Amino acid sequence: MTEQQVEKNSRGAAWKELPAVAPDIRSMYLPELKQLMEEMGDKPFRAKQLFGWLHEKRVESYDEMTNLPAGLRGKLQEQYPLHTLRVVDMQESRLDGTRKYLFALHDGNVIESVWMKYRHGNSVCISSQVGCRMGCRFCASTLGGLVRSLQASEMLEQIYRIQQLTGERVSNIVVMGTGEPMDNYDNILRFVRLVSMPEGLGISQRNITVSTCGIVPRIYDLAEADLAITLAISLHAPEDEKRREMMPIADRYSISELLDACRYYFKKTGRRLTFEYALAADANDAESDALRLAGLLKGLNCHVNLIPINPVKERKYGRSGKKVVLNFQNKLEKCGINVTIRREMGSDIDGACGQLRKSYLDNQEKHT
Ligand code: SAH
Repeated sequence: MTEQQVEKNSRGAAWKELPAVAPDIRSMYLPELKQLMEEMGDKPFRAKQLFGWLHEKRVESYDEMTNLPAGLRGKLQEQYPLHTLRVVDMQESRLDGTRKYLFALHDGNVIESVWMKYRHGNSVCISSQVGCRMGCRFCASTLGGLVRSLQASEMLEQIYRIQQLTGERVSNIVVMGTGEPMDNYDNILRFVRLVSMPEGLGISQRNITVSTCGIVPRIYDLAEADLAITLAISLHAPEDEKRREMMPIADRYSISELLDACRYYFKKTGRRLTFEYALAADANDAESDALRLAGLLKGLNCHVNLIPINPVKERKYGRSGKKVVLNFQNKLEKCGINVTIRREMGSDIDGACGQLRKSYLDNQEKHT
């Protein structure tokens, strides 16, 4: 075995993403647009103009790109049709103004995104896939399986449309909606780079959090990708057996492999990790779980986010009581772990991840 192979093996079982789809025009980097312009027989400087229309002015059609020659616009329209998201439904919380958008993609699939207002700015939670194939047993997003991955443009569009609809700037992004971002690795990278470019929205990578159920080899890849984002790990249990009950991905990668990858990520990027821990009654919320968790995370520069489970009717997991949650937090704090309880936004419009989409699909089924 070569040294490289040995190293690969210690990085957990390999992960196979779905076959790659060629990037659409709003997912292309500037050098790719330059090449495209050349292929179309036009001048490379057009690429910058085009990029500006797509990502700075964020127009919805080629007709609006008035400084591009009509001939080029026609060719682009023919070969690279521009897609935008269409709002299908919107729910607004009367408690805190949180909005959930249900968007239709050009192929008729629907995805949801959430807009949250905080004192420090506006945050958007985006979806990274249509459905999900990770199968976490407390989650609504995965009930219908995976339909397809989103292009970088379709992730960008969630932010672009929400800014347009609310008329307010988005300053923070969390990739915590439907889908597993590390199962759509190349497009997530494109998305992060494009959304943080000064020629586009220019959202600082430090204000972007990407959450993963723990696809170990991709965490190593991300550590090398030279990004300044925050990585959040959905841990949810302090031992393999319990974690396997909640998350099929735990059959593939052990907690110890996962934490090795996290330590590597910190060593490479210097970015503090977040661990998400969804508290489910009588599943993972005992004091002994808190102590075990504290033991696991000792010495790791991290932050724990406790999420009281949002019960999904098709799933057996229930929410831990308030007292249990506070006690769990207390125990971790006493062990010197940095911990917060996730503030619930829009609890009146509710819905755990993927529930708005799910009820929409259920309704459609009823009517056909
Ligand atoms: N696939 C990624 C990101 C999507 S979910 C991941 O697993 O991290 C974002 C977070 O919400 C994850 O921590 C996920 O485990 C959690 N989550 C999903 N369904 C939930 C529910 N019903 N209640 C509470 N948290 C949930």
